[in-house]
Amino acid sequence: MIGKVSRILLTESQISNRIAELGEEISRDYSGKQPVAICLLKGSLIFTSDLVRALSVPVTVEFMRASSYADSTESSGSVKILLDMDHDITGKDVLIIEDIVDTGRTLAKTLELLQARHPKSLKICTLLDKPERRVVPVDNIAYTGFTIPNEFVVGYGLDYNEHYRDLPYVGVLDLDAG
Ligand code: 5GP
Repeated sequence: MIGKVSRILLTESQISNRIAELGEEISRDYSGKQPVAICLLKGSLIFTSDLVRALSVPVTVEFMRASSYADSTESSGSVKILLDMDHDITGKDVLIIEDIVDTGRTLAKTLELLQARHPKSLKICTLLDKPERRVVPVDNIAYTGFTIPNEFVVGYGLDYNEHYRDLPYVGVLDLDAG
């Protein structure tokens, strides 16, 4: 495995406490509604599974997977949808669940695509936000778990080359170590 976790940024209990708070806030805001939570794979898998269980409103869960290309030929934020959901979101209250917002490219394009399907409302809940790295502004971030500095993090669903997703905490990856 490449690299090593050099520092724990968010412990398991910090994450679960924050998710309980987010769950309360989201349940209050969506009171009387039946939101559709869209889990953006793969990174949001664990966050989604914990967050939906912290909600007291009835929720349905859909999955999408987008891949973004950061190379210069597609720096405009070209996003390829690798997996789309199989339910219509027209007229629905949609909550996108994201692991981390970095440049904002993936989310901006995904939002554009979902907006075209005419949901009643469209909001984002992200576990992590790295605002220092933003290139494309992302509106609609209604809920943020933690704002973090510009460091590459892994764990709690987030990977490096598909590794580290299973860590129960979020840690900073040192690629030169290990
Ligand atoms: P964006 O389009 O906002 O630049 O990219 C967002 C995606 O990049 C995230 O969904 C995530 O997959 C990946 N990403 C951005 N920053 C990090 C990070 O610090 N660690 C990991 N593991 N993935 C990241």
